[in-house]
Amino acid sequence: RPVVSMRDVTKLFSNGTLALKGMSLDVRPGEFISLLGPSGCGKSTALRIIAGLGSPSSGTIDWPSSPVNAKGLPEGDIGFVFQEPTLMPWATVFGNVHLPLKLRGQGKREARDAVMAGLASVGLADFADSYPRELSGGMKMRVSIARALVTRPRLLLMDEPFAALDEITRQKLNDDVLRLWRETGITVIFVTHSVFESAFLSNRIVVMRARPGQVHADLSIDNGSVRDENYRTSEEYR
Ligand code: ADP
Ligand code: ADP
Repeated sequence: RPVVSMRDVTKLFSNGTLALKGMSLDVRPGEFISLLGPSGCGKSTALRIIAGLGSPSSGTIDWPSSPVNAKGLPEGDIGFVFQEPTLMPWATVFGNVHLPLKLRGQGKREARDAVMAGLASVGLADFADSYPRELSGGMKMRVSIARALVTRPRLLLMDEPFAALDEITRQKLNDDVLRLWRETGITVIFVTHSVFESAFLSNRIVVMRARPGQVHADLSIDNGSVRDENYRTSEEYR
């Protein structure tokens, strides 16, 4: 059963922008999906709706394989990494990664092992007592990844996470994300407008197009070769 299932999702913002029109997507357990498409095609909007950070104007989001809370979201099951690392400047690296566990009622002592394991998994065990301002952009992003994973979510959503970083740092972080995906078996949806990044990272590429935002092609990558599962062409596109 899918981890999450989007059915015919439309998003019309109050200013009249139709950001998504009839988007459907089944995310299967363990997939690494790249959501690929030009700027403005609705990738972030789709991700935010999946995360419960925005509601669809019509259509449904279902979590067929997890119990959901009153808001319709799976309990503790989603990690989100934003474009900006959004760390709390007044808290240490430890404190930032601890936050999601603290919100679940775990004190520092109780959460210590989980937080330190998270920091070790992104190579930052030695920086637990540092403050965000002392870290490079790539390191801040690693903290943000550790924070997203510390609750062991089944689904990790990443919204163009490395767009602001230089090419070498970006490649290193891509390697890390791939390693974490292989080690944990987590399901990932990774938003990008880079064809290179999507081909390097994912085993499924969902290509979107703009005005209105919708799925244009859905490609599975199998040992380096592409299986075109569900290619959609419309009359207007030929
Ligand atoms: P909704 O239609 O879901 O209520 P709003 O129109 O109220 O959404 O906008 C929500 C937030 O997004 C507001 O803070 C608004 O300033 C911001 N926003 C408006 N237009 C854009 C845009 N084109 N891109 C990103 N954010 C925007
Ligand atoms: P992408 O992530 O693919 O660049 P977005 O999902 O951010 O695209 O935006 C899709 C469309 O919706 C764009 O035209 C954008 O300007 C518009 N948009 C995004 N957020 C809002 C908002 N809160 N209010 C109004 N329009 C928005």
